[in-house]
Amino acid sequence: MITIDGARGEGGGQVLRTALALSLVTGTAFTLLNARAARPNPGLRPQHLAALLAAATVGSADVEGADLGSRRVVFQPRGVRAGEYRFDVGTAGSATLVAQTVLPPLLLASVGSALTFEGGTHNPMAPPFDFLARAFFPMIERMGPRLDAALDRYGFYPAGAGRFTVRITPVSRLVPLDVGERGDVVRRHARAIVARLPSRIAERELAVVQRILGWPADELETVVVERSASPGNAVTLDVTSARITEVFSAIGARGVPAEIVAERAAVDARDYLATGVPVGRHLADQFLVPLALAGGGGFVTFPLTLHATTNADVIRAFLDIEFRTATPRAGVVRVDVAPRG
Ligand code: ATP
Repeated sequence: MITIDGARGEGGGQVLRTALALSLVTGTAFTLLNARAARPNPGLRPQHLAALLAAATVGSADVEGADLGSRRVVFQPRGVRAGEYRFDVGTAGSATLVAQTVLPPLLLASVGSALTFEGGTHNPMAPPFDFLARAFFPMIERMGPRLDAALDRYGFYPAGAGRFTVRITPVSRLVPLDVGERGDVVRRHARAIVARLPSRIAERELAVVQRILGWPADELETVVVERSASPGNAVTLDVTSARITEVFSAIGARGVPAEIVAERAAVDARDYLATGVPVGRHLADQFLVPLALAGGGGFVTFPLTLHATTNADVIRAFLDIEFRTATPRAGVVRVDVAPRG
């Protein structure tokens, strides 16, 4: 039984999700204390509870503390069963973060899985479905498994009720991957997504993308979503290079002007393009888990965020690996995974 102090580092929800994923892969039980202690609303929120319950289902786990607001969780997995599952956050909480939790054990299961996730698909502070489908999953596929993802329905705050499916063809071992370079940019594509909102919002956002990034009109697309439980808006910016696709995004919110939403995503894409690293900040923190499971490989990214270093600490508690970092030049970090010792 491992004990993890959820107040360390960033002290957010990632500590729980990574602990759940790696507990399932390794069969190691854990106790999490001080869950989300550094957040203004500590303890489990609906999205974290959904991740915990999903992990418990996949791993036939005995669980203590599976309650909203709970700050102490005990998780004892009894064996991963791949197969068909439907996981519903029940609120607009992020369903993609539930996927992030159950994916690692199912990538390494002996048979395939067909998963349905319901809840928020485009949330602030979480990977939008577009990021999973076009940035994160392709990286994992390069390590061996096959992932087919489809978005059935957008889910925006406050109603949520989005839905996506993921089919997994697993492997017995993930192959280490090295992403040291980006290569030439071969495609750029901006989407301004509006659900039950005037398409004028999307036009204003794409104008900002054009101003900040200089992308021409044929790289800009307005996506009008007819079916959505709540009105919603998102901007996604795909940068496809020879060796990697990154997806930058921002989610619209009531009271935030469209121009500001678009600017957030565009500035992230601009920094990425200017710096020349292949892996952006969010992909970096999410890629640490599959890379650690592969036991080798590495990537080049921006200086690691507190989110990423906290994630690395949790990973090290479960797996016999270490992360080595080097700074080849200012503002650029190389991360390598190696067996510990
Ligand atoms: P809290 O931090 O309140 O506990 P949480 O569990 O929802 O809440 P975090 O622990 O901050 O959230 O984790 C958010 C995750 O979402 C991280 O893996 C981060 O990389 C990812 N993420 C956030 N924004 C984006 C984005 N725009 N694109 C891709 N991934 C994102």
